[in-house]
Amino acid sequence: MTARKLAAGNWKMNGLAADLAEVEALAKAHPSPAVDVLICPPATLIAPMCTRIAGSAIAVGGQDCHAVEKGAHTGDISAQMLADAGATNVILGHSERRTDHYETDASVRLKTQAAWSADLVAIVCIGETLGEREDGETLDIVGGQLAGSLPDGCTAANTVVAYEPVWAIGTGKVPTLDQIAEVHDFLRARLEERFGAEGAGIPLLYGGSVKPSNADEIFGVSNVDGALVGGASLKAADFGGIIEALERAE
Ligand code: PEP
Repeated sequence: MTARKLAAGNWKMNGLAADLAEVEALAKAHPSPAVDVLICPPATLIAPMCTRIAGSAIAVGGQDCHAVEKGAHTGDISAQMLADAGATNVILGHSERRTDHYETDASVRLKTQAAWSADLVAIVCIGETLGEREDGETLDIVGGQLAGSLPDGCTAANTVVAYEPVWAIGTGKVPTLDQIAEVHDFLRARLEERFGAEGAGIPLLYGGSVKPSNADEIFGVSNVDGALVGGASLKAADFGGIIEALERAE
């Protein structure tokens, strides 16, 4: 099984109603992309974004969900609520949430199961810090995060894994292509060991300072099936360039 290709945008805590014009422009410029395209805006924009681009090829996702369906959890949002607003995917365990909200592999695993129960695709993020890379621990760290964050039952249809070196997110620093290949080949082998043929089909995204000018070379790396993009997903022209690069990739 080969993995489908996915260009996913993470707007983080950016975006007001006026910014929906960007996603509308993106949908118009890419009416039938040859790859899957997803934008994950702040939760407040999920429903209006779905309305604004209804009928387009662009899917809409959330950036986090709670591990339970409903209850006394002020300020949180459940996977069912995301799905009810029109989301089809949810980013889980982003390094900013692991840092800002002390999320652990165990909590990400529970959230992944919650996402599946709402029929959402879980985009599970993992990645090493600069210190861990400098200490030569990258594969141990990402291997541990992968094992701990993914529940049993991952399939090519319900899970995406995003490798995002923490030191490359929003910094303009990008690992070498050899460093990306080493991690992605390692993750693919681990996914296949644990999930068999399904593991071969789980999309493996690279994330960290992807932009139109470096997307072609990153998408040429083995076992890179797409990207999770922060800053460059906010503008239709930039994200459109990344979508086109992924369409060009073999
Ligand atoms: C991200 O938020 O997941 C990300 C990779 O951000 P950026 O593209 O801005 O580095």
